[in-house]
Amino acid sequence: MNKILVLRLGHRIERDKRVSTHVGLVARAFNADGIIYSGEFDNNLINSIKKVIEKWGGPFLVSYTPDWKREIKNLRDKGFVIIHLTMYGINLPDVIDSIKSEFFDKKKNLVVVVGSEKVPRDLYEIADYNVAIGNQPHSEIAALAVFLDWLFEGKELLKTFNNAKIRIIPSARGKKVVVKNSKSSNT
Ligand code: SAM
Repeated sequence: MNKILVLRLGHRIERDKRVSTHVGLVARAFNADGIIYSGEFDNNLINSIKKVIEKWGGPFLVSYTPDWKREIKNLRDKGFVIIHLTMYGINLPDVIDSIKSEFFDKKKNLVVVVGSEKVPRDLYEIADYNVAIGNQPHSEIAALAVFLDWLFEGKELLKTFNNAKIRIIPSARGKKVVVKNSKSSNT
């Protein structure tokens, strides 16, 4: 089965703590297979995603690269298609069919790159697709969520994880959760 990795560039320990964590959580919840962080190495960030995987299930890869350019080149050599999310790119509705064809028909792996503060110029050249989620500035979390949602056409919202210790039973009111090896609880 072909895969989708997210590459999060330029993590800054102090400023990006929550945003980088949320990029990882969205990647996992919206059906990507893993996240690679670049920028400042941050053990707390990696551990916080791993704790979610331990409790809510996987598999989901979490790793760090000190050299984003080398990482992208390695992935490209392995056949990954490089998709850079940027407000300067071609708008999503105009390019989603080509990307769907790469993923679903040609069975190519994708790497979806999101930036933080300043994205290096080279990336625009290296990318196979520079994709805008609207041509207005907003957020890497939102951009990633919308991209994955368009790719999977909402089916990612029904994703389940087999090895989860905890699972939510959707309910109209209240909170219903099942904890592995225990009965369901209502709170
Ligand atoms: N000013 C930065 C630059 O020069 O690229 C962008 C900073 S923005 C807060 C962080 C990241 O969010 C971007 O690198 C991009 O991946 C994503 N992003 C923000 N708005 C976007 C949009 N309209 N379309 C696609 N991605 C977007």
